[in-house]
Amino acid sequence: MTNEEPLELKILRQLQVPTASLMEDLVLQEVTRIFDGLFGEEEPVSIARDQTGNIVIHYEGDPNRDNPKSLALLAHSDHPAFSVDGRTQDDTNLILRMQGGLNPESLILDAPLFSLGTEVYLHRLVRHDGGIITVEGGIITVETSESVLHTSLDQRDGNPSKRYHATANGLDRVDFATLKLPSLSVRDNYVSAPVIDDLGGIAINLAALRNIVNQKLGVDVYVVVTRAEEIGLLGAYGLVSHHVLPRDTLYVAVDTSSCRAKWDRADTKEPLKVITSLGAGAVIRTGDNSTPLFNGDANELLISAGRALQSRGEAVQAMRMYGGSCEASILYAMGARATALAIPLEGWHNGLQEGRVMSERVALSDLASGVNVLTTAAQLLANDPRRYSRFHVDHLQPSSLKFRDAVAGLYGKEPAFNIKR
Ligand SMILES: [Zn+2]
Repeated sequence: MTNEEPLELKILRQLQVPTASLMEDLVLQEVTRIFDGLFGEEEPVSIARDQTGNIVIHYEGDPNRDNPKSLALLAHSDHPAFSVDGRTQDDTNLILRMQGGLNPESLILDAPLFSLGTEVYLHRLVRHDGGIITVEGGIITVETSESVLHTSLDQRDGNPSKRYHATANGLDRVDFATLKLPSLSVRDNYVSAPVIDDLGGIAINLAALRNIVNQKLGVDVYVVVTRAEEIGLLGAYGLVSHHVLPRDTLYVAVDTSSCRAKWDRADTKEPLKVITSLGAGAVIRTGDNSTPLFNGDANELLISAGRALQSRGEAVQAMRMYGGSCEASILYAMGARATALAIPLEGWHNGLQEGRVMSERVALSDLASGVNVLTTAAQLLANDPRRYSRFHVDHLQPSSLKFRDAVAGLYGKEPAFNIKR
C-alpha cells in the first residue's frame, strides 16, 4: 500500500482474499479489520452480524431520528467459484462444481486453457478458538479431459454446470476452490484482479462511509456486506425478511456490472452489446435485468446526487444496466425502497461472456465516482430532512407497478437516462 492511493483502492487491495458463496469468512474477517482501522472507538459507528451472517455497519448520524429515514449501502462478499461436491469413490480425487455463474469456458473440455492446464487454488478454512480464520491451500492443475467426471446442463439458470475431479494434494478437507489468476495490479486508470465483483462495491461503500462520518452528516447510514449473492441474492433476502433495518430505509445495491450485455444470457443468437465503457463514471443503475425500473424515491436521490456531481464537471452515468441482476431487485420485490449503483466491469465473472478465463477490470476513476455519488446522496438526505421522509405504501399498489412497467416500456430496451459530462 502506498499513501497516494485512494482509500477505496487500499480497501480493495486488503480485500483480496479467497471467497465463494457461503464461504465468505475471509472477506468478512478483512472487513472487520478494515472497520477497526478506519473508525476510532469514540466515533458513532458500530459493527454487527445479522441472522444471515451479513455484516451490518451502522453510523448513527441522527441519534434522535429527527431525519426519519436511513440510507443503506449494500455490497456482496462472495464471487463465483467452485464448491466441493465430495470425493471420488477411490478417495483420490475431489469433485468440484462450478458455482454462481463462473465462466463455463474454464471448464469446457476442449477449451485451450483446459488443455494448457487451468490452475485453481484449493482452500480450506481453519477456525481457531478465538474465531480467527486462516486459509490453507494448494495449487492444483486441472488434469486432462479424462478427469472430467460428469457434465450436465443446469436448466435453472441456463449455465452449463460441470463437475470435474482434481487431486487434493494432501489436504484432508477442502472447502472451495478458486481460479488461479494474476493478483491485483494497477495500470494507469485501471485495476485488474481475480475478484472485483463485488469486493470493489464493499470498498466504495466503506470509503463513502469514511467521508460521511468525517462530515458528521445528520442521517443514519448503514453499510451492509452481504453473503451468497451469486447463488440467489440470499444475504439481501435475509436482510429484508428479518427486518434488520428500519422500514423507511433507502437502499442502494452497489455492485459491478458488465459493460457488455444482452437481454437473455441463455440466448446464443443474441449478440453482446457494449452498453457503456470503463472510465465514463459510476452508473446510477435505474434498473437491472430483472427489474425495469427500481424505486422512484431511491432513483431520484441518486440522480440528484449525479446531477450535483455533473454540475461540478464530474462524469456520472444513469441507465438500466441489464447485463445481470443485483440485490436491488430482491430488495425492491420485497417492498423496500431500493435502487442500485454499478461500476462498469470488463471480464465479468472471470470472462463469462468473453470466451476465455480472465481477471476482472474496472477504472479507478469509476470507483472514485461511486464514492462521490454515495457521499453526495448522504449529504442530500442529511441537508433536507423532509426529503423522502415517508415510506409511500402506494409504491406497492398494482397501479404503480403498471406505471413503473409503462415507464420502462417507453424507453424500450435502451438506457432510460444518460448523464454525460
Ligand atoms: Zn456482483
